[in-house]
Amino acid sequence: MSNNSIVERKCLNCGTWNKNEDFCISCKTAISPKEIIKIEEEEKRLEETNKPKDKFEVFAEKLKEHKYFIARLTYKIGHSIGIVLAGIGAILAWVVAMINA
Ligand SMILES: [Zn+2]
Repeated sequence: MSNNSIVERKCLNCGTWNKNEDFCISCKTAISPKEIIKIEEEEKRLEETNKPKDKFEVFAEKLKEHKYFIARLTYKIGHSIGIVLAGIGAILAWVVAMINA
């Protein structure tokens, strides 16, 4: 009799054979593909968060979290202007494309 419904996974960390577990019963290392992908995605996200920011980003971040309301307001206004400018840029690009068509 074969028993294909039971998945056995060998832990890559400690070599323990596990049944259909998401984590190794011995060392708690992720062994299911689902969990391994989840961990890889989490690592990517952390890398993204920890990568060095440029000066303007650091400045904007400081304003955003500033204890003075006026500083946070400056950030909000600056941020809004940024969005508006990006919008105008998009419209201009569209107009230019229309004229050249
Ligand atoms: Zn293990």
